[in-house]
Amino acid sequence: MVFNLVVHRERLFHPAVFIACVLLALAANSSAATAARWTVVNQPARLVNGSPVLFRVTTPKPVRVLSGNWLGHEIAFSFDPNHKSWFALAGASQETKPGAYSLELHAETTAGQAISFDKKIRVERQRYPRVLLPVTVPGQYTAPSPEEQRQIAQDKETKAEILKTVTAEREWEGSFAPPVNAEISGVFGVERVFNGSVQSTHQGLDFRVPSGTEIAAVNSGRVILARPMFFEGNWVVIDHGQGLLTLYLHLSKFSVKEGDGVSKGQPIGLSGGTGRATGPHLHLAVRWQGVYLNPQVLLQLKLP
Ligand SMILES: [Zn+2]
Repeated sequence: MVFNLVVHRERLFHPAVFIACVLLALAANSSAATAARWTVVNQPARLVNGSPVLFRVTTPKPVRVLSGNWLGHEIAFSFDPNHKSWFALAGASQETKPGAYSLELHAETTAGQAISFDKKIRVERQRYPRVLLPVTVPGQYTAPSPEEQRQIAQDKETKAEILKTVTAEREWEGSFAPPVNAEISGVFGVERVFNGSVQSTHQGLDFRVPSGTEIAAVNSGRVILARPMFFEGNWVVIDHGQGLLTLYLHLSKFSVKEGDGVSKGQPIGLSGGTGRATGPHLHLAVRWQGVYLNPQVLLQLKLP
């Protein structure tokens, strides 16, 4: 060891080696002062198409505000004083092709300087189950009456309007809680295939509950829809802010009305089998900025 050290010191003091070492040290220092001090961590660590994701970011300098762009969506970050990091919920639609996508970050330091960072995040391929659609569907839904057709058209308009909602303010806080303590009877992303082509995709999570079971809000937010619809039945939509909505379908009874503020765990209605449901169950859907995400993953995330 001693011998090696001596040799190393002799080499170091050769002028050319010395200069090279100084240059290397400078290079290492300057990269540490800029890019190296941004950190971006995603949860889940393995991100797939259809999954929600929590981004946690630390910045090289204290910043006043942090925003991002991810898969064409604008993201507003919140500051978590306990971890001295910024966080935001986002997602990747089920249609997202596997690949590395840029999370572009923009911030303004407390001194008023604009800084930015680009981090590539991998989206892996998730294969969702496929089921063959039965040949017969209840007649009511294949041939709706003119009256029903009017209702369906009106519902479609209301639905499009409601699902566009993006409230900048974050209302959710902490991890999301299951809406009911029950077995899962249908997972997210299942493709219903008829005659070899995908007819529809199951864009929610089904809980096996008998009619009349209390259903709770999965997080805090505001009720932006609570009314009956032809396909969805009695349904409630809660806006949790930052483009995140949760949808509760087929209810037998409402416990909230449009405009109500709700807190996590608060009852919003009773389960049922209203609308296009083969039987009583709760269909829970998660929508983020126009994209359906896997509720099962959202319920598992550990959130600040
Ligand atoms: Zn469902």
